[in-house]
Amino acid sequence: MAKKFACKDIGMSCGFKAKAESEEELMGKIAAHAKSAHNMATIDQATLSKVKSAIKEA
Ligand SMILES: [Zn+2]
Repeated sequence: MAKKFACKDIGMSCGFKAKAESEEELMGKIAAHAKSAHNMATIDQATLSKVKSAIKEA
């Protein structure tokens, strides 16, 4: 089942949106984006739970 995520859904003023065929693949895209765009080398636990709750069925 495809999944999607948008940074604005967790209150980021950012136009990033990602879509992938699985949550694992989506999390990989989000992690890469967080690192390059938000300067987050790792995603902390609080942000991670926000991200996971903002992931929707695409
Ligand atoms: Zn972003």
